[in-house]
Amino acid sequence: MGRKRIVITPGPEEQSFAARFDARDGDLAMVATDHGVLWAQRHRAGPMGPVLELVQGIYERWPDEARWLVRQRIFTSGEPTAVEKALVKVAAKKLTGGLQLGEGTGVPPAEGDLGPVARALQARRPGRHTAPSSFRDPTEAAAWLRRTVAEITRPLPRHARARPVAAVALAPDGRVLAAAVNDHATNRTLHAELNLVCNWWTEHGGPFPSGTTVMVSLQPCRMCAAQLMTVLPADGEVVFLEHEPGAMGHHTGLQLAGRERAWEDAPGA
Ligand SMILES: [Zn+2]
Repeated sequence: MGRKRIVITPGPEEQSFAARFDARDGDLAMVATDHGVLWAQRHRAGPMGPVLELVQGIYERWPDEARWLVRQRIFTSGEPTAVEKALVKVAAKKLTGGLQLGEGTGVPPAEGDLGPVARALQARRPGRHTAPSSFRDPTEAAAWLRRTVAEITRPLPRHARARPVAAVALAPDGRVLAAAVNDHATNRTLHAELNLVCNWWTEHGGPFPSGTTVMVSLQPCRMCAAQLMTVLPADGEVVFLEHEPGAMGHHTGLQLAGRERAWEDAPGA
Protein backbone atom coordinates (compact mmCIF):
# COMPACT_ATOMS: atom_id res chain seq x y z
CA MET A 1 0.00 0.00 0.00
CA GLY A 2 1.70 3.18 -1.19
CA ARG A 3 1.45 6.31 0.85
CA LYS A 4 -0.53 8.98 -0.95
CA ARG A 5 0.99 12.39 -1.02
CA ILE A 6 -1.64 14.96 -0.24
CA VAL A 7 -1.06 18.22 -2.03
CA ILE A 8 -2.58 21.20 -0.31
CA THR A 9 -3.06 24.39 -2.24
CA PRO A 10 -4.34 27.77 -1.08
CA GLY A 11 -8.16 27.91 -1.23
CA PRO A 12 -10.37 30.67 -2.68
CA GLU A 13 -10.50 32.57 0.63
CA GLU A 14 -6.72 32.68 0.95
CA GLN A 15 -6.41 33.65 -2.71
CA SER A 16 -8.90 36.49 -2.48
CA PHE A 17 -7.07 37.83 0.58
CA ALA A 18 -3.71 37.60 -1.18
CA ALA A 19 -5.08 39.34 -4.27
CA ARG A 20 -5.30 42.58 -2.27
CA PHE A 21 -1.49 42.72 -2.02
CA ASP A 22 0.93 44.04 -4.60
CA ALA A 23 3.28 41.31 -5.80
CA ARG A 24 5.97 43.94 -6.37
CA ASP A 25 6.15 44.59 -2.62
CA GLY A 26 7.53 41.10 -1.95
CA ASP A 27 6.36 37.79 -0.52
CA LEU A 28 3.40 37.53 1.81
CA ALA A 29 2.72 35.13 4.71
CA MET A 30 -0.77 34.83 6.19
CA VAL A 31 -2.77 32.74 8.62
CA ALA A 32 -6.50 32.80 9.51
CA THR A 33 -7.02 32.88 13.31
CA ASP A 34 -9.60 33.85 15.94
CA HIS A 35 -8.03 37.31 15.75
CA GLY A 36 -8.79 37.58 12.04
CA VAL A 37 -6.36 37.06 9.19
CA LEU A 38 -2.82 37.87 10.35
CA TRP A 39 -0.11 38.63 7.83
CA ALA A 40 3.37 39.98 7.14
CA GLN A 41 4.92 41.03 3.85
CA ARG A 42 8.62 41.03 3.08
CA HIS A 43 9.89 44.57 3.50
CA ARG A 44 13.60 44.13 2.82
CA ALA A 45 16.19 41.60 1.76
CA GLY A 46 17.78 39.42 4.40
CA PRO A 47 17.19 36.35 6.52
CA MET A 48 14.03 37.65 8.21
CA GLY A 49 11.35 36.74 5.70
CA PRO A 50 7.59 37.16 6.08
CA VAL A 51 6.96 33.72 7.62
CA LEU A 52 9.44 34.45 10.41
CA GLU A 53 7.96 37.90 11.00
CA LEU A 54 4.43 36.48 11.05
CA VAL A 55 5.23 33.73 13.58
CA GLN A 56 7.46 35.98 15.72
CA GLY A 57 4.76 38.65 15.66
CA ILE A 58 2.08 36.20 16.83
CA TYR A 59 4.23 35.01 19.77
CA GLU A 60 5.01 38.60 20.60
CA ARG A 61 1.46 39.98 20.52
CA TRP A 62 -0.39 36.98 22.01
CA PRO A 63 2.23 35.17 24.12
CA ASP A 64 -0.35 33.10 26.01
CA GLU A 65 -2.35 32.02 22.96
CA ALA A 66 0.38 31.86 20.34
CA ARG A 67 0.88 28.11 20.49
CA TRP A 68 -2.79 27.64 19.57
CA LEU A 69 -2.96 30.42 17.00
CA VAL A 70 -0.08 28.99 14.98
CA ARG A 71 -1.74 25.58 14.73
CA GLN A 72 -3.63 26.90 11.70
CA ARG A 73 -2.05 26.47 8.30
CA ILE A 74 0.20 29.34 7.26
CA PHE A 75 0.15 30.24 3.58
CA THR A 76 2.88 32.09 1.76
CA SER A 77 3.54 33.30 -1.74
CA GLY A 78 6.80 32.00 -3.07
CA GLU A 79 8.39 28.65 -2.35
CA PRO A 80 8.98 28.05 1.39
CA THR A 81 12.71 28.23 2.17
CA ALA A 82 14.68 25.77 4.31
CA VAL A 83 14.57 28.29 7.17
CA GLU A 84 10.80 28.66 6.88
CA LYS A 85 10.09 24.94 6.70
CA ALA A 86 12.19 24.29 9.81
CA LEU A 87 10.82 27.38 11.59
CA VAL A 88 7.32 26.00 11.19
CA LYS A 89 8.45 22.66 12.71
CA VAL A 90 9.93 24.46 15.71
CA ALA A 91 7.33 27.12 16.40
CA ALA A 92 4.17 26.54 14.34
CA LYS A 93 2.42 23.69 12.59
CA LYS A 94 1.81 23.75 8.84
CA LEU A 95 3.05 25.83 5.92
CA THR A 96 2.01 25.90 2.28
CA GLY A 97 3.41 28.03 -0.54
CA GLY A 98 1.80 29.08 -3.79
CA LEU A 99 -0.30 32.11 -2.89
CA GLN A 100 -0.76 34.39 -5.90
CA LEU A 101 -0.49 38.07 -5.05
CA GLY A 102 -2.39 40.79 -6.94
CA GLU A 103 -1.61 44.26 -8.14
CA GLY A 104 -2.17 46.10 -4.89
CA THR A 105 -5.62 47.40 -5.77
CA GLY A 106 -7.21 46.03 -2.57
CA VAL A 107 -6.79 47.34 0.95
CA PRO A 108 -4.99 44.93 3.29
CA PRO A 109 -6.40 45.08 6.84
CA ALA A 110 -3.78 47.01 8.81
CA GLU A 111 -4.80 45.48 12.15
CA GLY A 112 -3.62 42.06 10.95
CA ASP A 113 -0.16 43.31 9.92
CA LEU A 114 2.38 41.71 12.26
CA GLY A 115 5.43 43.00 10.39
CA PRO A 116 5.76 46.08 12.63
CA VAL A 117 5.36 43.88 15.75
CA ALA A 118 8.17 41.60 14.61
CA ARG A 119 10.39 44.52 13.65
CA ALA A 120 9.86 46.17 17.05
CA LEU A 121 10.95 42.87 18.61
CA GLN A 122 14.02 42.69 16.36
CA ALA A 123 14.87 46.30 17.21
CA ARG A 124 15.21 45.21 20.86
CA ARG A 125 17.81 42.61 19.73
CA PRO A 126 16.25 39.58 21.47
CA GLY A 127 18.73 37.34 23.28
CA ARG A 128 21.65 39.73 22.81
CA HIS A 129 24.26 38.93 25.41
CA THR A 130 27.32 40.78 26.67
CA ALA A 131 30.61 39.06 25.89
CA PRO A 132 34.28 40.04 26.17
CA SER A 133 35.42 42.05 23.15
CA SER A 134 37.74 39.25 22.06
CA PHE A 135 39.04 35.79 22.97
CA ARG A 136 42.68 34.75 22.78
CA ASP A 137 41.75 31.35 21.33
CA PRO A 138 38.77 29.04 20.77
CA THR A 139 39.39 27.30 24.12
CA GLU A 140 38.73 30.59 25.89
CA ALA A 141 35.57 31.09 23.84
CA ALA A 142 34.39 27.56 24.68
CA ALA A 143 34.97 28.21 28.39
CA TRP A 144 32.96 31.43 28.12
CA LEU A 145 30.07 29.60 26.43
CA ARG A 146 30.00 26.99 29.20
CA ARG A 147 30.09 29.67 31.91
CA THR A 148 27.34 31.66 30.23
CA VAL A 149 25.07 28.64 29.96
CA ALA A 150 25.62 27.86 33.66
CA GLU A 151 24.89 31.48 34.63
CA ILE A 152 21.65 31.81 32.68
CA THR A 153 20.36 28.55 34.12
CA ARG A 154 20.86 29.32 37.79
CA PRO A 155 18.56 32.22 38.74
CA LEU A 156 15.40 31.21 36.84
CA PRO A 157 12.49 29.12 38.10
CA ARG A 158 12.06 26.01 35.98
CA HIS A 159 8.88 27.11 34.17
CA ALA A 160 10.43 30.41 33.03
CA ARG A 161 13.59 28.79 31.80
CA ALA A 162 14.51 28.75 28.17
CA ARG A 163 16.79 25.85 27.32
CA PRO A 164 20.16 27.38 28.13
CA VAL A 165 22.06 27.86 24.89
CA ALA A 166 24.66 30.50 24.06
CA ALA A 167 26.24 31.41 20.71
CA VAL A 168 29.09 33.69 19.74
CA ALA A 169 30.41 34.82 16.33
CA LEU A 170 34.19 35.24 16.16
CA ALA A 171 36.39 36.98 13.60
CA PRO A 172 39.60 35.10 12.61
CA ASP A 173 41.60 37.25 15.06
CA GLY A 174 39.34 36.27 17.97
CA ARG A 175 37.31 39.48 18.00
CA VAL A 176 33.73 38.96 19.13
CA LEU A 177 31.33 40.06 16.38
CA ALA A 178 28.11 39.15 18.20
CA ALA A 179 26.85 37.06 21.10
CA ALA A 180 23.36 35.81 21.94
CA VAL A 181 21.46 33.36 24.13
CA ASN A 182 18.17 31.48 23.87
CA ASP A 183 15.16 33.58 24.77
CA HIS A 184 12.47 31.15 23.69
CA ALA A 185 10.62 30.43 26.95
CA THR A 186 7.67 32.41 25.53
CA ASN A 187 8.54 33.17 21.91
CA ARG A 188 9.51 29.79 20.54
CA THR A 189 11.34 31.27 17.56
CA LEU A 190 14.02 32.97 19.66
CA HIS A 191 16.83 30.39 19.65
CA ALA A 192 20.34 31.65 20.42
CA GLU A 193 21.70 31.19 16.88
CA LEU A 194 18.63 32.73 15.24
CA ASN A 195 18.95 35.69 17.61
CA LEU A 196 22.64 35.94 16.75
CA VAL A 197 21.91 36.00 13.01
CA CYS A 198 18.94 38.39 13.16
CA ASN A 199 20.72 40.77 15.55
CA TRP A 200 23.77 40.83 13.30
CA TRP A 201 21.71 41.40 10.16
CA THR A 202 19.59 44.11 11.79
CA GLU A 203 22.76 45.99 12.77
CA HIS A 204 24.94 45.37 9.72
CA GLY A 205 22.54 44.57 6.87
CA GLY A 206 24.68 41.74 5.48
CA PRO A 207 26.28 38.34 6.16
CA PHE A 208 29.10 37.67 8.62
CA PRO A 209 32.54 38.70 7.29
CA SER A 210 35.01 36.30 5.73
CA GLY A 211 36.56 33.80 8.14
CA THR A 212 33.82 34.01 10.76
CA THR A 213 33.47 31.09 13.15
CA VAL A 214 30.21 30.70 15.03
CA MET A 215 30.61 28.78 18.28
CA VAL A 216 27.48 27.40 19.96
CA SER A 217 27.09 25.56 23.26
CA LEU A 218 24.66 23.10 21.63
CA GLN A 219 24.50 21.65 18.11
CA PRO A 220 22.17 23.89 16.05
CA CYS A 221 18.65 22.67 15.28
CA ARG A 222 17.37 22.57 11.71
CA MET A 223 15.89 26.05 11.91
CA CYS A 224 19.05 27.66 13.26
CA ALA A 225 21.28 25.65 10.91
CA ALA A 226 19.28 26.89 7.92
CA GLN A 227 19.39 30.43 9.26
CA LEU A 228 23.16 30.25 9.86
CA MET A 229 23.68 29.02 6.29
CA THR A 230 22.18 32.28 5.01
CA VAL A 231 24.78 34.46 6.75
CA LEU A 232 27.88 32.27 6.99
CA PRO A 233 30.65 33.26 4.54
CA ALA A 234 31.99 30.57 2.19
CA ASP A 235 35.05 30.09 4.44
CA GLY A 236 33.10 30.24 7.71
CA GLU A 237 32.18 27.35 9.96
CA VAL A 238 30.08 26.42 12.98
CA VAL A 239 31.59 24.69 16.00
CA PHE A 240 29.35 23.25 18.72
CA LEU A 241 30.22 22.01 22.22
CA GLU A 242 27.45 19.48 22.90
CA HIS A 243 25.55 17.19 20.54
CA GLU A 244 21.81 17.79 20.16
CA PRO A 245 20.23 14.44 21.01
CA GLY A 246 16.81 15.27 19.48
CA ALA A 247 15.70 14.77 15.89
CA MET A 248 15.88 18.50 15.16
CA GLY A 249 19.66 18.26 15.36
CA HIS A 250 19.84 15.63 12.61
CA HIS A 251 20.20 16.20 8.86
CA THR A 252 20.48 19.94 9.26
CA GLY A 253 21.64 22.11 6.38
CA LEU A 254 24.95 22.71 8.15
CA GLN A 255 25.61 18.98 8.53
CA LEU A 256 24.66 18.17 4.95
CA ALA A 257 26.95 20.93 3.70
CA GLY A 258 29.81 19.85 6.01
CA ARG A 259 29.83 23.29 7.61
CA GLU A 260 29.71 22.28 11.29
CA ARG A 261 31.93 20.24 13.58
CA ALA A 262 32.02 19.20 17.20
CA TRP A 263 34.42 20.98 19.50
CA GLU A 264 37.20 18.81 20.88
CA ASP A 265 38.91 20.17 23.92
CA ALA A 266 42.65 20.39 23.46
CA PRO A 267 44.54 17.76 25.51
CA GLY A 268 45.20 19.06 28.98
CA ALA A 269 42.73 21.97 28.56
ZN1 LIG B 1 17.65 26.32 17.06
